[in-house]
Parts: sequence; structure tokens; C-alpha cells
Amino acid sequence: MTDFQSVFGAAPEGVWAAPGRVNLIGEHTDYNDGFVLPVALPHSAVAAVRRRDDGLLRLYSAQGDGLVTELKAAELDPAAVTGWARYPAGVVWALREAGHPVGGLDVHIDSDVPTGAGLSSSAALECVLAAACNELYGLGLTPAELALTAQRAENDFVGVPCGVMDQMASMCCAEGGALFLDTRDLAQRQVPLDLAGAGLRLLVVDTRVKHDLGDGAYAGLRAGCERAAALLDLLALRDLPPAALDGALVQLPAELRPLVRHVVTENARVEQAVALLDAGDLAGLGPVLTAGHASLRDDYRVSCPETDLAVATAVAAGALGARMTGGGFGGSVLALVAAARLEQVAAAVLDAFAEAGHTTPRVFPAVPSAGARRLS
Ligand code: ADP
Ligand code: MG
Repeated sequence: MTDFQSVFGAAPEGVWAAPGRVNLIGEHTDYNDGFVLPVALPHSAVAAVRRRDDGLLRLYSAQGDGLVTELKAAELDPAAVTGWARYPAGVVWALREAGHPVGGLDVHIDSDVPTGAGLSSSAALECVLAAACNELYGLGLTPAELALTAQRAENDFVGVPCGVMDQMASMCCAEGGALFLDTRDLAQRQVPLDLAGAGLRLLVVDTRVKHDLGDGAYAGLRAGCERAAALLDLLALRDLPPAALDGALVQLPAELRPLVRHVVTENARVEQAVALLDAGDLAGLGPVLTAGHASLRDDYRVSCPETDLAVATAVAAGALGARMTGGGFGGSVLALVAAARLEQVAAAVLDAFAEAGHTTPRVFPAVPSAGARRLS
């Protein structure tokens, strides 16, 4: 690790960490005012940070191009910043836009969250900087307020119209639990997820198929959902109850129907998953995951051959359930697996990818971990 001292020539004032996430269930629901159920990963973005009194924002990432990006905190312009620096610069910009007195900073980032893998390396990067600014500049913002600021950075500075799930997960998840979040009012509850106690593991398969959520596909899906809600005279698709789904579908143009069906059934799956976890039936989550994948594959159409293969192979090899996680078009799959079958499922997925001639995926178990925090 290239440390802060060697890049900036002094010691940092503090070090913060913010995690990536896997979403158990509730995909493409967050921009429909719906429900999500993410878990924080042990993988985190770590930021060592020191304030500067000359107003300069100097950004370095161990995963970047080896250069220090230098910007003026008071003159940040979305049109003028390119590359990865848009994420941390966007956070400073969003805080300043909201009237917070954030000035110059030296920032050293080192992250082990795989990028572009649907595990939310972008939110980890944004949230770690938001948490650092909050403390160094004494802003007194809550984790949810910081998550909203980080989302604003991604929406309006980076230009990705993402919902708030990733940032809320990175800021608010707790160790040993999943975050049941209502994205309409940000009401949240930690749902205990004692996988080890139930003899289960969450296996993550990073297919290494890179998505690019900035490429318009995501924006198109989001626009489709908003159009459907407007045609149904609803504030958001979250307001369509499952019992009213069939009646609503016939009122919509054919191309919007599968989108609406996914969002409505997916919200119901989140509520079902939470009820199962509350009842201690962790294994019962398996079929809910697999049903969620079918909906993403057949209705929302955001899966790809690699994610479909990982899901089908994991289930055939004995996983209790599996689904793609994240925005889609590649990225990662999560599988709920009995501890005793972990190796068998992982090996089956690796074999299937080799046989199909796909790039070797990265396969690792995920332990529900803590949200953003100060390390030193
Ligand atoms: P995801 O959030 O699923 O990983 P995104 O496309 O939303 O995928 O975000 C990935 C982008 O975030 C990268 O292309 C890069 O610009 C930025 N990023 C994330 N982590 C880092 C890092 N450690 N260093 C530099 N840039 C990073
Ligand atoms: Mg992202």
C-alpha cells in the first residue's frame, strides 16, 4: 500500500473506512421509492485525510493512475472533472452546495472493493469521504444525511442517476445484520442475519463482466418506471400493491409491463425476506432469491449469460438460492449456501465458467459487516 505519508509528505489527521455491499433482495426498487435489504461487505474503501488551509483538494487513489489530482474545492465543476476523481470531488461539491464549510483536503484512498462488479465501490468511495469531511469539518450530519449527499454527488457530479440504496448501505449497515430500508422515507431497521448460527454462508461470485451504469441502459429503465407510474397516476411504482398489479398492467403499453411486474413483485419479495429473517427462517430466503433472479432475467432483462450461468450452476450444485446483485449487465451473483456445501458450489461455478470459456470469476464468502466508521 502506498501510504498517505509518502504521497503527501505528512501524517493524516484521521483514517476512515466505508464498505461495499451486496443486496440480498430488492433490486431496481430504490428509484421506485421501494424496499431494499443490503448487507455491508468486509471489503471497504479506506481514506486517510488531512485538511489543507489553501483550499486545494488533492486526491490520490492506490487503485488510480498513480497521479495526484489537484482541484480547487471552491471551484468544482462537474463538466471539468474526469475519471475516478469525480466521485470524491463530487462529495466535496455536494457538501458545499448544501452550504457546508468544507475546504481543502489531502485524500489518500485505498480500496479492496472490486470496481464495476455490482458491489458498490463507487458508494464506498463517496461515503468514506463524506464520513471524513463530516468529522474533520465538524458538520454534525447524520449517516442518512451523508448518504443523501453522497447520492447527490453520484447523480449530479458524476452523472449516474442511481437511487439511494448503495450509499445508505455503506453508511448505515451494522455488523451481523441486513439493512431493511424504505427508500421513500429512509425508515430503516437492522434485521439480524446470523448466517453462521444457521449453518449458512453467503457466497459472492464476481463474474468480472464489467457493467457501465453510466451508459444509458440504467437511465432508460429508470425513465420507463417513471413513465409507468405517471400513466398509472401514482407517485411511484412502490404505490402499486401486488393485488392491483394485473389490473394495472392492462392499462400500460406492452413494453412497460415487465418493468412494472418486476418492481411490484420485487418489493413484495423484500417484505417476504424480512418476514422470514424475523422468524429465524434463514434457509427460507433461498427460493426468494432465485425467484428474484428470474424476475431480473425475464422481466427486467438486466442479467447476462455469465450471471445466469452462475445462478443456475450454484442452485444445481446445492445452493438454497441465488441471484444477481447490483444494477446488472454483468457484475456479481450471491448464493445462499449451507456451510458444508460451500466448496462444492464454488467449485461447480468455477468449472462451469471454465467450460463455457468465460473469464475466471472471483468467488468469496461475504460476512455481514459494519457501515462507515473511523479507524484511527
Ligand atoms: P460499482 O459501484 O458497482 O463498483 P460503478 O461503475 O458505480 O461500479 O463505480 C466504479 C467506479 O468507481 C470506477 O470506475 C472508479 O471510477 C470509481 N472507483 C471506485 N473505487 C475506486 C478506487 N479505489 N480508486 C479509484 N476509483 C475508484
Ligand atoms: Mg456504483
